[in-house]
Amino acid sequence: MMQEIKIVSKRFDIENSHTLEAVKTHGAYSWRDQLFEMTQDQIIEMIKQSGLRGKGGGGASAGDKWALMPLENEQKNILAVNCDESEPGTFKDRQIISKDPHLLIEGIICTCYAINANKAYIYIRGEYKQFQDILQNAIDEAYREGILGEKVLGDESFSLDVVIHRGAGAYICGEKSALLESMEGKRGHPRLKPHQKECEWYFGIPTLVNNVETIATVPFIIQNGADAYKAFGTEQSPGTLLFALSGHVATPGVYEVQFGTSMMEYINHYGGGIKNGKKLKAVIPGGASTKILTADEVQNAKLDYESMRALGSSLGTGGMIVMDEDTNMVEALKNLLEFYRHESCGQCTPCREGTGWVDTIIKNVLDGEASKDDLEKALEVSKTMNGQTICVFAPAASDVIDGFIHKFRDEFESYIQGGVS
Ligand code: SF4
Repeated sequence: MMQEIKIVSKRFDIENSHTLEAVKTHGAYSWRDQLFEMTQDQIIEMIKQSGLRGKGGGGASAGDKWALMPLENEQKNILAVNCDESEPGTFKDRQIISKDPHLLIEGIICTCYAINANKAYIYIRGEYKQFQDILQNAIDEAYREGILGEKVLGDESFSLDVVIHRGAGAYICGEKSALLESMEGKRGHPRLKPHQKECEWYFGIPTLVNNVETIATVPFIIQNGADAYKAFGTEQSPGTLLFALSGHVATPGVYEVQFGTSMMEYINHYGGGIKNGKKLKAVIPGGASTKILTADEVQNAKLDYESMRALGSSLGTGGMIVMDEDTNMVEALKNLLEFYRHESCGQCTPCREGTGWVDTIIKNVLDGEASKDDLEKALEVSKTMNGQTICVFAPAASDVIDGFIHKFRDEFESYIQGGVS
C-alpha cells in the first residue's frame, strides 16, 4: 500500500479551502513566530539544507538560487512567482492557486522575508482568468487582515505588496528570463545566459524567480525544519512533488507523492491503472518537453530526478501523460510538434525553422507522402536544434522528436510503406 503524504496538498480537501477563514483553522500563517525569529541567512541555509529543488521543471537547488540574492542592498529585491504553466500535460499550479491560494501567499511572505524583498509579482498564465480571480480574492483577504501590506503579520519592520501580472498566453514566458522581459512590457524573449551564476534582474533590480509549487513548499520547511522535509523522498531528490496525471488512466488528476515512488505504483494507485483494461504503451513522464518512455522502461522507473536522468528523460514539471496500446504515436508526435511550432519565440533559427520543418515532415508522414529519407531528415534537423539555442525549448523539442522516432520507428515506417500498423 502506498504511503500518502501531503505537504502542499494538505488543505486541498477542506471545505472552502480557498478562503482565509477555512484555512486559518487548519494552521495557515501559524509559522509566523518561527519565521521572524530567524535571520535571512538562517532561513536561506535552512532551505539549502532541506534539499528543496525547483518544482517548475529545472529541479535546481532552491537554496542555492536564493543565496544569489544580495541581502545588503538598500533597494529591496523582487520575487517573481512563475505561474505561467502552459505545457501540455502540466496542470498542477492551478490546483494550488484555486484550492489553497493562501498557501502560496504564505510561501511568498516567507520567501520575501528571507531574500530581502518587499514586492512580489505573480506572473499568471493569461488563460487562467478564473483561477486568477480566486487568487486575487485571497490576496484581498490577506490585505484586509493585515497579513500583507505594511507590518506583515504585525512585524513592524517588514512590508510586502503582492501583485498579479497576467500573461498573454505565450508558453515561452514560463522561461524565467522571458517572464521578466514580459513583465517589463517587452516581447517574451528568453535572455542570453550570463557567464557566471547570478540572480535575475527586473528593471535592474535583483530578482528571484521561483515556481508556484516551490514557493508553496516553503512554509512547511519553515514550520517543521529542513530534516522534516528531507525525511521524505530520496537523498538527492528530497521531499514531494505534485504530479499531474493525464491520458489513458481511469482517474486522472493531481496527486502529491514523495520522490522515489515507483512510477507504475503511482499510475495504478492514483490513476486507477490503464483505462478500460488496456495495456500500457508509453509514458511522457514530466510534461510535453520530456522524452517519452516505453512501457518496458516504465516498469522499474522511479519518480525522482536521478532515475529519470538514467533513462535519458527528465522529471520536468511532473506532468505525466499515459498512453495505452491503441495510441497512434505518429499522430501523438504531430500533436506535440504543432505545440512546439506555435510556441517557438523565433529568436533562434534552429528552433524557429526546425520545429516547423519537422512538423511538416511528420504531417507528410501521416499523409503517406514521406519517404524513409524524410524520417532521417527529421532526425537530422532535430539534431541541429540541440545545444545551439538561447534557451532549452529547442533541445527539449529535439529530445521529444528523437524519442518518438527512435522508440516507435516501426509505426512511422508503416505510414511510409503505405499501411498504418
Ligand atoms: Fe526562442 Fe526557441 Fe530560441 Fe528558446 S530556443 S529562445 S524558444 S527560438
